[in-house]
Amino acid sequence: MNKLLTFTSISKFMQYRNSLGGSVGLIPTMGALHAGHASLISRSSAENNFTVVTIYVNPTQFNNADDLKKYPKTWEADLQLAEQSGANAVLAPMYAEIYPDDYKFKLTENDFSKMLCGAHRPGHFDGVLTVVMKLLQISKADKAYFGEKDYQQLQLIISMAKAFFVSTEIVSCPTYREADGLAMSSRNVRLSSAGRKKAPLIFKTLSAAGTPEQARAVLEKEKIKVEYLEDHFDRRFVAAFIDDVRLIDNVKI
Ligand code: AMP
Repeated sequence: MNKLLTFTSISKFMQYRNSLGGSVGLIPTMGALHAGHASLISRSSAENNFTVVTIYVNPTQFNNADDLKKYPKTWEADLQLAEQSGANAVLAPMYAEIYPDDYKFKLTENDFSKMLCGAHRPGHFDGVLTVVMKLLQISKADKAYFGEKDYQQLQLIISMAKAFFVSTEIVSCPTYREADGLAMSSRNVRLSSAGRKKAPLIFKTLSAAGTPEQARAVLEKEKIKVEYLEDHFDRRFVAAFIDDVRLIDNVKI
């Protein structure tokens, strides 16, 4: 197994990156790593000479201070999972270094980012796109891996890369699920045991119900608070709250 390198300094990481030959794969994450993240890391490790996982709970993409504060942090376990999945390095930067401008500059998309999650989390995708662009510049990765679990985010990143002539290839990875269908998410650990039992209903209903209205009604009957449930293109998207934990999912229809 590779010995995992850990960096908190972006400048030291960039120096190291510039010394590397061969291809580099990037997996941006917010930590609290699970098997979904591991699937992205393993894929990068199979496709590149060097794989770097970034762990950064990006404050600019949180519109809710409580959600940011409660975001799970599992540093030691993250390093272990990253290493076991084939990562060569973890970069975990500090705000002051990744935002030397204190977020005076940001990247805004004015169409798809205003729908779905963007309609309910103002500024969320500005934060996501800005930090991803920074990580692409820092890593000069050949390929960067993103999950379909966050389908809207993935599409926005693909469009952003095209709009800004980014040479990194953006790779889409399928959603990794628990055996009962629940999409793996760092937030799942915040569910109560009753909430965890209820949560697979989101994916089940999304896949089974005829119309978005019918799907919403099924979830609401189970006292699941639906933020949005909409069809766009050939996909059905949902955000819903169980135990005050915001869960998102999407399926092809
Ligand atoms: P996060 O740490 O939640 O920001 O996620 C980091 C990356 O992992 C994003 O590209 C996510 O889409 C991806 N990811 C998170 N959960 C899953 C999952 N269950 N299956 C596949 N990819 C995932």
